[in-house]
Amino acid sequence: MELRFGPKEEALREEIRAFLEQALPGDDENNGGAFGSRTDEDFEAAKHFNTELGKRGWIAPAWPKEYGGLGASIYEQMVFNEEFGYHGAPDTGTRGFGVGMIGPTLIIHGNDEQKKRYLPRITSGEDIWCQGYSEPGAGSDLASLQTRAVRDGDDYVINGQKIWTSGGHRANQMFCLVRTDPEAPKHRGISFLLIDDIKNQPGLTLRPLVNMANRHHFNEVFFEDVRVPARNLVGEENRGWYVGMTLLDFERSGIGTTASQKHTLERLAEDLRSGPAGRRKQNRTKIADLVVANGVGRYIGYRIGYMQQNGMVPNYEASVAKIYQSELGQRIYNFGVNMLGLGGQLRPEEPKAPLSGSLPESYMLAVPSSIYSGTNEIQRNIIATRGLGLPRG
Ligand SMILES: Cc1cc2nc3c(=O)[nH]c(=O)nc-3n(C[C@H](O)[C@H](O)[C@H](O)COP(=O)(O)OP(=O)(O)OC[C@H]3O[C@@H](n4cnc5c(N)ncnc54)[C@H](O)[C@@H]3O)c2cc1C
Repeated sequence: MELRFGPKEEALREEIRAFLEQALPGDDENNGGAFGSRTDEDFEAAKHFNTELGKRGWIAPAWPKEYGGLGASIYEQMVFNEEFGYHGAPDTGTRGFGVGMIGPTLIIHGNDEQKKRYLPRITSGEDIWCQGYSEPGAGSDLASLQTRAVRDGDDYVINGQKIWTSGGHRANQMFCLVRTDPEAPKHRGISFLLIDDIKNQPGLTLRPLVNMANRHHFNEVFFEDVRVPARNLVGEENRGWYVGMTLLDFERSGIGTTASQKHTLERLAEDLRSGPAGRRKQNRTKIADLVVANGVGRYIGYRIGYMQQNGMVPNYEASVAKIYQSELGQRIYNFGVNMLGLGGQLRPEEPKAPLSGSLPESYMLAVPSSIYSGTNEIQRNIIATRGLGLPRG
């Protein structure tokens, strides 16, 4: 059996690769990171990069043409994600939160006015979105959220707090879940709201949270009588839980992560080939193991793409991919910093840092990968119950 994409996808891959090699010179699979951009310049570069993608219709290729996409197939979208992951295509929150979360939610649950207003501003790279779901007392058990919104005339008035809002300080737009009926059972009293122009919203305050890589990645967000027009409600009032949990029919294989890890392994192998013989001897079988594991990760991702392309909805399979890719990332970056020795601890700011100083950063950023997007414990629960049919608890 030979697993590969068809000629159409491979031709597309060549086109994407040629564009990325020209747009992202250098050999850094991080290319400035995503929402936790190292510097303002990195962020501006990511914004410019997204604008260039937007001109080609490449921000949301799988969206229907009427919403600014190319109507690309799941396989074509996978090729995009694989190449973007391999080349470290930077993002601002436009592709991650805009294309990955709020866009598909609006396509399914938004009204015509909301679709017309927001979708083109995502596919052009103009709007940068952030996600206001988690609260200090609501993470895995998200339906416990307490941020309150009360209808007052044509507005909702919001009071409360969100936390871990990635890229909130870079974003101009936020989608969030708020409690509109505190008396109802907890999943039924939640609504889904869009907040415009968050930087200039009276009563909305962002406080930075600096992560262990010393980057300002996420924020606490405080709401004090923040007024949001009722037209920014998505779907029905008190039915927001179902809007927020929409099963998204877009590419979810995590193949970009696997491709980024593959690039890291290639760079480490190159370093081993040209480095001291003793180090080579010590690390050759370890890196070989990781290359095998990375190949397995790729096929786990392809399985999900195959299911989606053929009209199946991946469920516990996506949990398998999430666990596998996040934990493998932690192993790869741990191996990398150890293999590179003391020099491997140098950060990107150091001109002599091996592999552009990307390893310590990737190592630290891989730690929370088993927490966000649903912790790996929660994913294991999903595999146990939905995948293996084991009873709850
Ligand atoms: C880097 C990063 C970026 C993030 N970005 C955003 C963002 O942009 N917007 C946003 O809204 N949120 C964001 N989050 C928050 C993220 O969604 C939550 O951290 C996550 O859902 C876990 O919630 P918690 O931190 O409250 O931990 P808890 O839910 O309190 O979990 C604590 C521990 O208990 C375990 N646990 C909890 N329940 C169960 C259970 N039923 N069975 C077994 N184990 C369980 C968990 O696995 C974990 O180990 C981000 C988090 C991180 C780390």
